[in-house]
Amino acid sequence: MRTSPLGMVCHGGAGALADRQAHSDGLAVALEEGYRLLRQSGSALDAVVKAVSIMEDNPVFNCGTGSNLTLDGTAEMDAAVMTQDGRFGGVCCVTDVRNPILVAEKVLTDTDHALLCGAGANALARRMGFEKYDVKTERSSNRLETLKAEGKSSHFPRLGGRVKTGTAGAVAIDKHGSLAVATSSGGITGRMPGRVSDAAIPGAGTYAAPSGAVSCTGHGEAIIQLMLAHDTVGRMKTMPASVAATLAVSEARRRKFMVGLVGIDARGGVCFGHSTPDMSYGYMIADKLFMFAEGKGK
Ligand code: ASP
Repeated sequence: MRTSPLGMVCHGGAGALADRQAHSDGLAVALEEGYRLLRQSGSALDAVVKAVSIMEDNPVFNCGTGSNLTLDGTAEMDAAVMTQDGRFGGVCCVTDVRNPILVAEKVLTDTDHALLCGAGANALARRMGFEKYDVKTERSSNRLETLKAEGKSSHFPRLGGRVKTGTAGAVAIDKHGSLAVATSSGGITGRMPGRVSDAAIPGAGTYAAPSGAVSCTGHGEAIIQLMLAHDTVGRMKTMPASVAATLAVSEARRRKFMVGLVGIDARGGVCFGHSTPDMSYGYMIADKLFMFAEGKGK
């Protein structure tokens, strides 16, 4: 049986890069571990969940441990997985769980639903054996305190300048040529409680289809307006991933939207792009690792 070339691409968010080295190191570990699963005949879904769960455990990234806080000081997290056959599992505004992406995977594999929110998502997590876990860190609390001290409102007044966010995502293609995507986000500091980011919305920040799969980062409300992941994957029906990403990001730039994305098309072509000043990402193909941490930093 012919096998497909393996590939994996991850992003560590399009927010201002406070620590370039820490981002690169964290991304490299996630990519290597995800890719290792692909090498061991794991599915694309296994690989993206592994990579994202590693980034959730790394406080450098804005997801899982270290997630940004709402105005009320709670860590409400969004995460989703999707496979190219259209299966989707997501959680939004989930709290007190170490790895939202593992709960999202359970929604896909163990329930008849696509997306669970808030208390329902928390209840599923407990039922599936995920223990209560506090993801707040001193840094995430300080970020909220600084924002409040500056007297900013809850409607992201600073997004016109730099996106103070993060998010982690992964896309993979396995030996069967199957694609999967996973995205996990701690959201934007100082958002209103109950706000849902693009990460858990199918087609917005997370999307997979036979033509490709994409994970997004950046200003969630803009990504939702563009249906950025769906738009980029749609373009992959008629063009390689790299061209699809360039066109999708150009459109975002034209509209002055702050976004970033990574993806893979059905032939294993990898893509990435961002209209934000910064973004960290990397990919692994043919057993080789490529890392990028672009931008001006903090
Ligand atoms: N997209 C995420 C959000 O809007 C944040 C990010 O990707 O940096 O919450």
